[in-house]
Amino acid sequence: MAEAGGTSYHTHNHYCDGIGEIAEMIEAAIAAGLSEIGISSHAPLPFATGWTMPPERLEEYAAEVREMQRRYGDRIKVYFGAEIDYIPNSEVTAFQERAIFPLNFDYFVGSVHFLGQPQVPRSFDDTESGFHAILTEEYAGDISAMVTDYYQRMSRVPEIPGVRIIGHLDRIKRWNAERRDFTGDEPWYRAAIEETLRALAGSGTIVELNTSGWRKGPDEPYPAPWILARCRDFGIPITINSDAHSPAEVDSGFDRARALLADLGITPVVLG
Ligand SMILES: [Zn+2]
Ligand SMILES: [Zn+2]
Repeated sequence: MAEAGGTSYHTHNHYCDGIGEIAEMIEAAIAAGLSEIGISSHAPLPFATGWTMPPERLEEYAAEVREMQRRYGDRIKVYFGAEIDYIPNSEVTAFQERAIFPLNFDYFVGSVHFLGQPQVPRSFDDTESGFHAILTEEYAGDISAMVTDYYQRMSRVPEIPGVRIIGHLDRIKRWNAERRDFTGDEPWYRAAIEETLRALAGSGTIVELNTSGWRKGPDEPYPAPWILARCRDFGIPITINSDAHSPAEVDSGFDRARALLADLGITPVVLG
């Protein structure tokens, strides 16, 4: 059970690849003692994926979150958000400008799930075999080229208007739990992180400590503790998010996350 006053701004529900109603996520947040909850389904893209919201459901999603803000407003602060993808592709940008931004979201969690040629985005996030297919076919097997491209895109996530939170900063490690592709200690890896943090520090965005890495995959949060320490050094604010895909996960790993941040001398911030 989380201590009173916690927050999570990264949650999914049945509108995308999560399980459960938005109201159930909010009820779980109240039961966990959270004071603020952000609803952040994967925003639609102009092409099909197995996990983003279909464009035709966006209006209904917006109306439902707005209704929940009214229904629960005296018990918990509910933010109308979405997890939005950064893809350097003019068609995607035009779609986001036309279909998403006019709905006046309170905030976005900005993430990178796609790599490869900008005109043919491929998700590295779905499967380990998909990750390695992209590595081989798009980056000629050069892991430093792939990872550096990932972090260069991550540096540009704040260019999406409305992005307040940087989603799972080192997500590229998702399929690398055994550290077979890279260790994270390589000079090129450290340099890519430094460059990204320098860009983010100037952007005013918040980096999330995303607890989902403890539930599946790398067995450490996103980003890794040493990157959180560098965020602190750069003065980048940190918030704790669960990336819950079901109401039961709403504050998963929060005690551990708070202890880790306390060890690092970091006080988590709220969206405000
Ligand atoms: Zn994500
Ligand atoms: Zn997410």
